[in-house]
Amino acid sequence: MEAAELTRWRQLHPRYTYWCGSLLGGCGEPLTDRRYHSKVCHFAHHPHHTCTRTANGEDSADHLFMKRALHNWIGSQGCKGAVHLPKSATPPGSMIDVDLKGSLRQLRFRLRPDSNGSWGLAPGNTDAPGDKEADWVFGLGGPAPKELLDGVGYVFRIRFETHGAERCPYLGVQQRGKGTEWTPFATAALTTDGLSTPTVDEIRAARRRSTAGAPIQPAGGRSPRSRVM
Ligand SMILES: [Zn+2]
Repeated sequence: MEAAELTRWRQLHPRYTYWCGSLLGGCGEPLTDRRYHSKVCHFAHHPHHTCTRTANGEDSADHLFMKRALHNWIGSQGCKGAVHLPKSATPPGSMIDVDLKGSLRQLRFRLRPDSNGSWGLAPGNTDAPGDKEADWVFGLGGPAPKELLDGVGYVFRIRFETHGAERCPYLGVQQRGKGTEWTPFATAALTTDGLSTPTVDEIRAARRRSTAGAPIQPAGGRSPRSRVM
């Protein structure tokens, strides 16, 4: 933000106050806006204050953009559900858990690996309560879990693109020996098999044909999607 833009912003919002966001790993203390001509204007703590927030990059609020995108997506699927940001997540904001009402599936987002490069809980070793199965979605910062590549043949990935002041999520499908195929997260579907894109539909259909002993047809036809209501 340039100095003139900040001046306009202050005139538009004279009563706004600013706080260091605890959902971003911040300390919750007040911030002030600093107007500069020689560098980019920014928010700052009071001098001599030590903040707990360690991540300040463009991607540091991706979990909040994802949470909002998930609320919109759940509504668009005709479902109801709850989106949780577990407080135990390390680093902060690296986990999002989605519980869908009336569905036997849950969604587990792991946006960033821990400091050892590990995704923590082994996927497949699900922590979903009862009989629910989880679809796991991983950020870009770590290796694809082998359990999933071997078990179901793909791994869901998530990445974000900056559009104006927004961070827009894209869902990727990673397979062994192939490039990751990306689609806007908003276009993903929820089926009885779980989170779904055209690529995943084809992988699941091919594996079903393989399991049934039928010869595998080249991918091409898109399988119909049954919706979870
Ligand atoms: Zn702070």
